[in-house]
Amino acid sequence: MSKCSYCGCTEEHPVDGTAFFVNKNKTICVSCAMGNKVKFENRITGVKAVIIAYKGVPSPFSNKEVRIKYGNDKTFEITLMDFLANYNEVKS
Ligand SMILES: [Zn+2]
Repeated sequence: MSKCSYCGCTEEHPVDGTAFFVNKNKTICVSCAMGNKVKFENRITGVKAVIIAYKGVPSPFSNKEVRIKYGNDKTFEITLMDFLANYNEVKS
């Protein structure tokens, strides 16, 4: 079963009622990714980004969005689906 390796929340019991997983292995929830400033890397460009905000709704999948920050001060919103497709967590 998928479980956040930081806080232990699961899809059935998200940490704040709306959190969701932001990596393919489902081991990092969006709340902990922000709290721990987990870095994500764009698979194509290599740009590194952190998640600074998110919009979680219980469903559907496509309505989940994260706001990411990269470079000095650039931010943009991306759907969870696109984020999962384009970014990997950076293993330290
Ligand atoms: Zn968590």
